[in-house]
Amino acid sequence: MIERRKNIARRKLLQYGTAAIGSYAVLTSMGNKINAAESTDKLVASAGNKKFSNLSPDQAISELVQGNQRFIRQRSRNPNQSRLRLLETSDSQSPFACILTCSDSRVPPEIIFDRGLGDLFVVRDAGNIATSGEIGSLEYGALVLGAKAVVVMGHQNCGAVKAAIELGSTSGFIGSIINEILPAIQISRSKEGDLVYNAIIANIQLQKQKVQTSPVISKLTKENKIKVVGAYYNLENGRVEILE
Ligand SMILES: [Zn+2]
Repeated sequence: MIERRKNIARRKLLQYGTAAIGSYAVLTSMGNKINAAESTDKLVASAGNKKFSNLSPDQAISELVQGNQRFIRQRSRNPNQSRLRLLETSDSQSPFACILTCSDSRVPPEIIFDRGLGDLFVVRDAGNIATSGEIGSLEYGALVLGAKAVVVMGHQNCGAVKAAIELGSTSGFIGSIINEILPAIQISRSKEGDLVYNAIIANIQLQKQKVQTSPVISKLTKENKIKVVGAYYNLENGRVEILE
């Protein structure tokens, strides 16, 4: 049974080109979660995900925007956080959106989009940078788990972007993050207006472009199975602005 599941996942990946084969090792190492690819029917049968099973990419983004509106108005419903939902999602998941965002403690996706368990496949690091590990995770969320949207979200007053402005080229582990943000700083220096804000926006766009270099993400996008967008989160008012 496990072998059969692995074969199905492998077939699915192979359809998405040789570049995806590398991802297979990651997927198989994720153990029994691989069965998420064929558990859709089971999840659809569960009350919590019925609503999301047939969403288009635009509708998935709309769900996020609506959840954010509830959060801004302090009318969060805290959906899919019940004991029942815990049980429903205990052996499989079917998140409707992938979010690549900053590790910043003020930017928790489930809270600002008013979502719950099994709804969002979240990838976080300082500065919402898209390295190979992050892109591989997003491929998994979109291709295997079936998420319909990929959101690359930066935020106001991002400490990682500010550090990149102040430090420039940096060594060590932290340098591996800072240096990924430097091209966005470079682009922004020649622009009018606030350097930090401009660099945050440029960083969102650059990291989004890196995500789009994935053959898996690119093919799913062309097939209208997913949509990749940038987003900017305002720390003061809680609003997420979608950047096409
Ligand atoms: Zn940040």
